[in-house]
Amino acid sequence: MKGNTGKIININLSTRSIAIETLPEEWYRLYIGGSGLAAKIFQERGDFSLDPLAPEAMLIFMNGPFAGLKLSGASRGSVAGCSPLTGHWGDSSCGGYFAPELRYCGFDGLVVTGRAAEPSLISIEGEQVTLLPAAQYWGRGTEEATRLLKEGFGKDSRSMMIGPAGENGVKFANIIHEGQNAAGRAGFGALMGAKNLKAVVVKARKKEMALADAEGYEILRGDLNGRINDALASSVLRENGTAANLIGGVYSGDVPVKNWTSNFWEEAAEALNGTTLTEKYLTRRTGCLYCGIACKRIVEVKEEPFAVPEGGGPEYETIVAFGTLLGSLDLAATCKASRLCNDSGVDTISCGATIAWAMEAFEKGDLTREDTGGLALHWGDMTAVLDILLPAIVKKEGKLGALLAEGSREAARRLGKGLDYTAQSKGLEAPMHDPRGGGYGLALTYAMSARGTCHVADPMLFIEMGARYYPEIGFEYILEPQSEKDKAAAAAVSVALGAIENSACFCQFADAEVTIPDWLALFKTVAGYEWDAEEFLRAGRRIFYLKRLINGRYGLSGKDDDLTPRMRAPGSGGEADGARFDLEKMKARFYEIMKIDPESGLPTKAALADCGMADELDKLTAECP
Ligand code: SF4
Repeated sequence: MKGNTGKIININLSTRSIAIETLPEEWYRLYIGGSGLAAKIFQERGDFSLDPLAPEAMLIFMNGPFAGLKLSGASRGSVAGCSPLTGHWGDSSCGGYFAPELRYCGFDGLVVTGRAAEPSLISIEGEQVTLLPAAQYWGRGTEEATRLLKEGFGKDSRSMMIGPAGENGVKFANIIHEGQNAAGRAGFGALMGAKNLKAVVVKARKKEMALADAEGYEILRGDLNGRINDALASSVLRENGTAANLIGGVYSGDVPVKNWTSNFWEEAAEALNGTTLTEKYLTRRTGCLYCGIACKRIVEVKEEPFAVPEGGGPEYETIVAFGTLLGSLDLAATCKASRLCNDSGVDTISCGATIAWAMEAFEKGDLTREDTGGLALHWGDMTAVLDILLPAIVKKEGKLGALLAEGSREAARRLGKGLDYTAQSKGLEAPMHDPRGGGYGLALTYAMSARGTCHVADPMLFIEMGARYYPEIGFEYILEPQSEKDKAAAAAVSVALGAIENSACFCQFADAEVTIPDWLALFKTVAGYEWDAEEFLRAGRRIFYLKRLINGRYGLSGKDDDLTPRMRAPGSGGEADGARFDLEKMKARFYEIMKIDPESGLPTKAALADCGMADELDKLTAECP
């Protein structure tokens, strides 16, 4: 096998068994790697009756075929399984250095089941896999634990780990890598914690990959790196980070404000923009392995009350989730929030969104002082958020901390109020892009995403911005963001491309410069696949369908392809004032184009047959009434 190694590690923490497995080569060709291959493993081996945090639950770490290449955007990896936050399929992408290091060790991924009897870690050094006690790291934040692990395993070791939030079972706990990169979404930190697994540490002994056509790849790499790194969008990201264009988002109505009650706050354009972060707090720029874009930030805030020593800085999502969404324009507070969330191991999107929901619930009187333990929750009170509320959530402390640690949908259900003003789909809190201003197509792909509202499940966000065209496949729509016209057809291509991006574990920022012929050449030179554009898109549709089939086994149907009333309400303020999308209309057309049954939400037999996966539907109907 080329590109991929063909090998994964199966670890049962209960029995302490470790086995190296060679996966069928056909699975790689059909499901690529990353979240697609993880979904195939889960579909074949998952027990769909399990509680997401049951010891037998599967936690999958999976590389794409390109991990380890010296190519911008190719160093990401996936974490996947049944989401503790949503109770159905979930996957999460993480940048940094872990995926390449795992590939250099000779593995494409690992599947972890069982529950260790004591706090443990998995060490992968070359091909040597060992289960070790980890009591000395348990209870520590990710910054300190990362430092200690590097002291113990070498400074060139790379780890994925949980913080106290994962240990305590916070449902939106994440998995952190090198203190700053996160497999952020869907709560897999809680699953690691339930397994008593503090960290997975990898350290390669050699850095080699076998490619199908090394010479051809080298020529392609030079061309692609040049185009990716020199692109205007890349230089903007490098200079001012992922919040570089927050200013544009504010004016288009893409930036949600105060729990999505508005999508316009003009002062945020200056106060929270990436340029302001650069001027006030940036000390260094950094990025994932071999990436010339280097969009990540290192910051330092000297002034109180939100001083933070030099370290990882906030990305766009964190700046908005702990900024306008909470009624705050304090950029220093977002730096501190980013640092605390990463150190504790919580997803900044779900955490900020859940706190925003709580603030509105308090304002409405749905959450009382009795519910909050006397704490007043007011918009923009970042001292209360960072000093009291966030630590309470991480520790699940008190009635309020325990309630909010469940995420917004479950918190509203337990409270018996406020479900209508959560901003989520399928239980996953919405990211910080508001489709009422950003583009109606995004509302459609938010609703269709298997894991729940997700802006990186596919490139629709960029397509509606006009930043992506695929003329090679006749995809040349001129899309008006605030219109339903052509959105279903665009989404049908977008979800297939997104499934490929997330299975190849390729960064969306770098992918902007990768054309369809480039993709085909990459798969050919690295993995040896002789695909044409149709076969390539078919692979994407196959993976998109497979995740829906998995959700079908959890009982989800077409009704779950929805957004909450708060997200569907007319836009309020600025250019998007009064903007309202017709989700039903776009959904109906999308189902038709994608051959999905509107009631069950499942792909039809014809759709599956077209993708060479008709047998998958039989599995579903055999097991579900
Ligand atoms: S653009 Fe940023 S997130 Fe993407 S691979 Fe490069 S450094 Fe990582």
